[in-house]
Amino acid sequence: MNIIITDCCNRACPYCFAQEKIRMSGDTEQAHALADEDFNYCIDFLKSSNERALKLLGGEPTTHPHFVQFVEKALGQGLDVTVFTNGLWSPDVLGWVEVCASDKLHFLFNVNEPGLQPGDENRRQAQSLACAEKRGMIGFNLYRMDFDVRFVVNLIERFGLKREVRLGVAHPIAGQENAFVPDADLPGLGERLLEQLAHLEEHDILGTLDCGFPLCMFPEDQLGKLVTHTKSNAYSCCGPIIDVGSDLNVWPCFPLSALLNVNLRDFKAYDDLYAYYEQKLSAVRGIGFLDRCLTCKYRIRGQCCGGCMARTLRNWQQNGDVAVLERFK
Ligand code: SF4
Ligand code: SF4
Ligand code: SF4
Repeated sequence: MNIIITDCCNRACPYCFAQEKIRMSGDTEQAHALADEDFNYCIDFLKSSNERALKLLGGEPTTHPHFVQFVEKALGQGLDVTVFTNGLWSPDVLGWVEVCASDKLHFLFNVNEPGLQPGDENRRQAQSLACAEKRGMIGFNLYRMDFDVRFVVNLIERFGLKREVRLGVAHPIAGQENAFVPDADLPGLGERLLEQLAHLEEHDILGTLDCGFPLCMFPEDQLGKLVTHTKSNAYSCCGPIIDVGSDLNVWPCFPLSALLNVNLRDFKAYDDLYAYYEQKLSAVRGIGFLDRCLTCKYRIRGQCCGGCMARTLRNWQQNGDVAVLERFK
């Protein structure tokens, strides 16, 4: 379960998977920020659900005025805290991370290719990565066919980060426009990714695939490389992830953030929320975004999730079922 502690982001990535729910102006005055009592409620909810992991997201979570207090409180209660960040930290946050000695605090840095972002962002990210060291891991989103993720080798070695890269593929957002990889381009993207994973593996760095990768985006005769060049053994999976917004509004995951919004206070525990989304999305989960998914052996045997449900819904919509999203509101 992810807690979105602020809807403010100080960056504007073209593929932003969160854009239905966030503001990219960087204006913290206008932000919707999670209130202290609601943060306490989230912690209690997690603990009473026997969950020990707290994931903090935004927008950019470090722009929340009480970010440091929130993390200190969660660490003090024995939770493992992972901060999903773009690394554009204020001097106060930088200073705090530098002195925080907890081994239960981790950072997942969403980085873009250095040549595609302003020099100032590269400089600020470098400062944050230097503070995080082995507590930091790189995350990279694939949204362009000519992506090149090999630059992470330099970052990982220079700053002593985890020798792992979390890779996401940019999905469409149901009911919104964003930059994502069209269905027809996925195989080309998969082939390029395998080539670059081989380069990372030569440097002792493994990939971890995020949710929604269709198995058939990789050439069948090269699937073995997924095994040797990645850390997890779930190559094609789909949540629910479950995101909690700054007003305790909950949605299944960012690409489906316009759908099935509920309130955290209406559920007793995480398992109830999970079961709710499993049931509500059962009509679309695992059906697949391509016609051929229906008879695909990989889907039938549970080896492929059929791609991201936001892709499936978008295709249904574009193929004539224009009101499909309404059925999930
Ligand atoms: S850093 Fe994250 S939340 Fe901010 S614009 Fe980029 S993808 Fe969106
Ligand atoms: S629909 Fe599934 S694959 Fe797509 S983002 Fe949500 S959890 Fe991930
Ligand atoms: S289920 Fe669909 S997306 Fe997955 S491998 Fe088969 S055809 Fe591809």
